[in-house]
Amino acid sequence: MIMQVRLPDGSIKIYDGPVTPGQIAREISEGLWRNAAGALVNGQLWDLERPIDFDCELKIVKLEEPEAAEIYRHTMSHIMAQAVMRIYGADKVKLGIGPTIENGFYYDFDIQDAKITEEDLTKIEEEMKKIIKEDLKIERFELPKAEAIELMKQRGQVYKVELIEEIPDEKVSFYKQGEFIDLCRGPHLPSTGKVKHFKLLSVSGAYWRGNEKNPMLQRIYGTAFAKKEDLENYLKMLEEAKKRDHRKLGPQLDLFFINTDVAAGMPIFLPYGMTVLLELMNLSRKLHKKYGYKEVGTPLIMHEKLWRQSGHWDHYKNNMYFTEKEEVTYAVKPMNCPGHILIYKNKPVSYKDLPIRLFEFGRVHRYERGGVLHGLLRVRTFTQDDAHIFCREDQVVAEVTNVVKFIDELYSIFGFTYRATLSTMPEDHMGDEATWEKATQALRNALEETKVPYVVAEGEGAFYGPKIDFHVKDVIGREWQCATIQVDFQMPERFDITYKDADGTEKRPVMIHRALYGSLERFFGILIEHYAGAFPTWLAPVQVVILPVSEKYVDYAKELLEKFDKNGIRVELDDRNETLGYRIRENQMRKVPYMIIVGEKEKEAGKISVRTRDGRDIHDVEVEEFITKITREINSKSMSLSY
Ligand SMILES: [Zn+2]
Ligand SMILES: [Zn+2]
Repeated sequence: MIMQVRLPDGSIKIYDGPVTPGQIAREISEGLWRNAAGALVNGQLWDLERPIDFDCELKIVKLEEPEAAEIYRHTMSHIMAQAVMRIYGADKVKLGIGPTIENGFYYDFDIQDAKITEEDLTKIEEEMKKIIKEDLKIERFELPKAEAIELMKQRGQVYKVELIEEIPDEKVSFYKQGEFIDLCRGPHLPSTGKVKHFKLLSVSGAYWRGNEKNPMLQRIYGTAFAKKEDLENYLKMLEEAKKRDHRKLGPQLDLFFINTDVAAGMPIFLPYGMTVLLELMNLSRKLHKKYGYKEVGTPLIMHEKLWRQSGHWDHYKNNMYFTEKEEVTYAVKPMNCPGHILIYKNKPVSYKDLPIRLFEFGRVHRYERGGVLHGLLRVRTFTQDDAHIFCREDQVVAEVTNVVKFIDELYSIFGFTYRATLSTMPEDHMGDEATWEKATQALRNALEETKVPYVVAEGEGAFYGPKIDFHVKDVIGREWQCATIQVDFQMPERFDITYKDADGTEKRPVMIHRALYGSLERFFGILIEHYAGAFPTWLAPVQVVILPVSEKYVDYAKELLEKFDKNGIRVELDDRNETLGYRIRENQMRKVPYMIIVGEKEKEAGKISVRTRDGRDIHDVEVEEFITKITREINSKSMSLSY
């Protein structure tokens, strides 16, 4: 048997029998072999020590390369499971699943008579360090399904038995390190000593297979990196994220709260929070006008037959809310599209009318399981800055390009950089493949034209069309998905909407769905964390607070208050019977951009002292000068303070 292995540099190695990537790495250099985590064999991740007996293209994956993370994090989850079994007893621990996730891994455990707490994590980490030190060899083996089930039954691993029964293949693979064996597709590092930089992060409950009817397992989250420095940076980022958590800052800054008893996943906005939302809406309205949209309004609940026609009934019913009156079923809208189609159909449309761009702050409701709700980021009701563009086929690329430019202008105001994902046809979809291909190509063209960096997510599109998702990067480096653009040839078909073309024939318009903030509530949550609650002045619920040094200066303070208010500045007076120091500290905590402090000197001279929220003092400031500067700062939506 002669085998050819083609390496990335184009060179070809010939073998007359099975070979492992480890062997090949070693032939290239000892250093490469020591640094290797695994390999890509015909584009698929592969164990370093798993033999290859076919012609292939092969790339050795080094520990510090991005592809390696999947391998060493998954190995780390096995090491964690092994440690948990050693500590709590192999006969007492039933394993669920232990996959890698973004930036880390987890494993689910069903442990007899023991509940793991955050304090226990140190103990588990210690045991993991021992396993790493033991540098146990990690070996792959395969068994026929029946034998695999037998093996897992012997070991009391009932969840694994359930998983194997659902695997369609005749053989299943296992990985073994020391006394630990796990059902696993792999790949893994060749031994437990190969990566060392990890940290266990938290423990929480998780239902087996995410189903509330199943037993509740204990899930431990952890993270691992190839380099110590990367682990440290990541932990620092998590620490920073904790400080910025909008679920803490929201109530603390009187922005919003959530009453989980009567309205789980449905945020309640307080006056300050509403002020921020209104600013976001005002900005959005202004830009929508600039980009040629017309604002409309559609009902929250509509007859079920509309949702049958739209396809939501078949594809989305489980996420919808319903209500009934006089034996008619109505759906609470999960999307605004059908409403906008009704508007399109309200009058005959000619080719000259296109594109028609309809925009709405559309309040939608979508059911989400209780377990996944998360502050403002994952909710059951939210407001989309939603629009639908109806256009001719030859206008699609120009329209999508126009949306991308709009997104760019909007996001740069908040200091976000972003990248895009192009999602293609999913398994559950409407319409034929040729139409999908056309729509996907239109989106691709627009991305190429606007030079937005993007990746392709195969099969991740919506059921009615392909889409582009935009991920913004916040100030501490986290990415958030916000805007989407979806090209849709299906819904116009379903609702039989047409326009009269130049030659007098009836044609089908294309529909583009797009939202830029995405959800206003979610975008707000992201902003709270992005700014750590210290909103730029144009967004700050209170822009200026006036602090009279003592009672004697309240009159002067009130005079100023009126003046600022008349100039459209959001201003408050803090004349509480507390020390000045205390009031300054409190307003700093509230992250008010400017404090105006007035005492004898200021009153006498008709001036003010300004204290910024980052603790700088500026004395002898003319009132008019301050008003001019702050007004300019607000109008320009500047991110930094003028003083
Ligand atoms: Zn595994
Ligand atoms: Zn839509």
